Amino acid sequence: MEPTQHLLMHFPPNLEKYGSIFLSAYQPLPVLFSDAGKTVKLKQKSLRVCRFCGKGSDRVNFRKKAHKIPELLGNRYMLSDFECDTCNEKFGKFENDLAIYCAPMLAMQGTRGKEGRRSLASKGKKIMIPFVFDGIELTLITKPDPDDDSMDFNHDTGKNSFRFSKNAYTPVKVYKAFLKAALSCLPEVEFKYYSYAVRFLHEDSWDEKNMDFAKITLHTVPMGSGHHAPVIFIYKKRDPQAAIPTHIFVMRFANCYVQFMLPFYDPDIIQIYNKEVAYPVCPPVFTTPSPDISPTFFNVDLHSFEKQKAEEVNLSFDTDPDILKKNGVVYDHQTDTFKPLDAFESIASAVMAPSHTSFTNEQLGRLAKVIQELNEKQKI
Ligand SMILES: [Zn+2]
Repeated sequence: MEPTQHLLMHFPPNLEKYGSIFLSAYQPLPVLFSDAGKTVKLKQKSLRVCRFCGKGSDRVNFRKKAHKIPELLGNRYMLSDFECDTCNEKFGKFENDLAIYCAPMLAMQGTRGKEGRRSLASKGKKIMIPFVFDGIELTLITKPDPDDDSMDFNHDTGKNSFRFSKNAYTPVKVYKAFLKAALSCLPEVEFKYYSYAVRFLHEDSWDEKNMDFAKITLHTVPMGSGHHAPVIFIYKKRDPQAAIPTHIFVMRFANCYVQFMLPFYDPDIIQIYNKEVAYPVCPPVFTTPSPDISPTFFNVDLHSFEKQKAEEVNLSFDTDPDILKKNGVVYDHQTDTFKPLDAFESIASAVMAPSHTSFTNEQLGRLAKVIQELNEKQKI
């Protein structure tokens, strides 16, 4: 069992009402912190049984390191001792689609996957490139085309936005990657009622007409209020007779909360699957008093087997306008100098630094060279 904690739930002040509606229907199970998992001892390989195919170590191998939550979301320590190599390989294929789907959030937050922080590309061109300068983690933001208006930094309001197109991905594979993570986080006593959901994970030809459940709710919160390693919240309905799904899974990674009902809990199948299911949504939870923020909220339908091509995404993040005015500078290639942030409209690169970072003139001079080199590499 992962080290877990029962914690006070803090909702953003303007969403407290929805938080209490949710908590009157659902009770939280212990919160799982993926970065606390390093102290957990895994079961000896010879005693392992795969949760997803039911086979033991006499029939399948357990040589690979299996992650309960994909490593690309920033989980390094929460490992599983109940996923065989065959299932791991099969489910690992969903992660390519998950990586594309989550790329903007992960790049913005600077989440570390297996290969460290990831770049973000739009139409094949890198637009966010992480790098380290004097021990500070920075991100270079470049415009694919200096004349385009896909990026906007507003120094008066502190609201910044990016528009770019994602690479192609298959929605149902993204959903399966999330579902597999959720099923891996469930305690065994709850998991045993999800055999139908496991069947769905394994099958490639499920009828799309019967896949209405494959949806997620996505909340995004301002950058910087995030937790680098994923945090998992699982909720169980208080009244077993209530006509709502038994479990709601919420995963926080980068600056977003992905939330969905777990489909096909055996008793739910009889109780709720013959009618329209409506259930309350859990607002973003903070484990320390929440900042006064208004999260953005979307419902995303992921039930399609059809590849989504060049989906346009709008990313926005807030920064403190005072910090932005004081510290926001952009690098001008033409003159090899730094200029105030409002010059970004006509200039092709900017650097995102952690808030409260400040650079000396000497550092800015060296930083300009690093940026120039990074930009040169892009052109090749
Ligand atoms: Zn297996």
